[in-house]
Amino acid sequence: MPEDRAAVQPSLEAKSPYELRVGLGKGVPETDVRSALASGDMGFLHSFTTGSTLDGPGVRVVAWTTGCMWRCLYCHNPDTWTLTNGVPVSVAEATEELRKYRHSLKIMSGGLTISGGEPLVQHRFVAKLFRTAHEMKVHTALDTNGYYGDRLSDAELEWIDLVLLDIKTWDLERHRKLTGMDNGPTLEFARRLAARRRPIWLRFVLVPDLTDAPEDIAQIARFAAGLGNVERVDVLPFHQMGRYKYERLGIAYALKDTLPPSAEAVERACAQFRAAGLTAY
Ligand code: SF4
Repeated sequence: MPEDRAAVQPSLEAKSPYELRVGLGKGVPETDVRSALASGDMGFLHSFTTGSTLDGPGVRVVAWTTGCMWRCLYCHNPDTWTLTNGVPVSVAEATEELRKYRHSLKIMSGGLTISGGEPLVQHRFVAKLFRTAHEMKVHTALDTNGYYGDRLSDAELEWIDLVLLDIKTWDLERHRKLTGMDNGPTLEFARRLAARRRPIWLRFVLVPDLTDAPEDIAQIARFAAGLGNVERVDVLPFHQMGRYKYERLGIAYALKDTLPPSAEAVERACAQFRAAGLTAY
């Protein structure tokens, strides 16, 4: 990184994605933001975290991107919604960050996960970073809601070893209420990954009264089992760790009184996925 930038650049490394980060890229002119998105030579990152065991196989470095077009009611990182809340980082800088860890990642059977926000808002940057990771022989995983999956070419999909695909809920009206968007493009991306035999780990956030309808879970399980490329399902219990961010950002938070699901409810959801023939945790 050039010295003058290093002097002003906020640290990219965070202990966890629950650190609140705002306005770190707000000084970047609008035209630079647009050309960064178009070329992918620069991206906006909320942070890098190391040592994650929750975002793919082994121990991972996770690059958390900013920018998301969805507004999931249960989102625990609303500070990642705005692109310019992130630190502007060139592909070369991000690659250098990754290079520091590549040997230990291999020893720990891990790799690089790009999460967010929604990484494919910055699909050119993400594709470039995955390419360099792939060239370094670092395992790559994309954590995505899949809505912009069609922005990636078939060749770019080959640089992604694993897709952590979030399916939020099945029923279209419930999905719109929950996220503000349709789930059709997500399901289409899942079908495309299946056709190209790219592995998926499905992620499903269980939220009492929002995503726990047994008929919806059964439909997701049937769909996922029919794809043939879903290696595992992670049922992620809703939690309140992001609540303080809504308060600090002054954003209305509809789920402030929602409790995490019980252990029994999580186990019931896992059992539904297992009943469809899937491995679920
Ligand atoms: S898709 Fe992810 S980052 Fe975007 S609003 Fe939903 S939970 Fe938050």
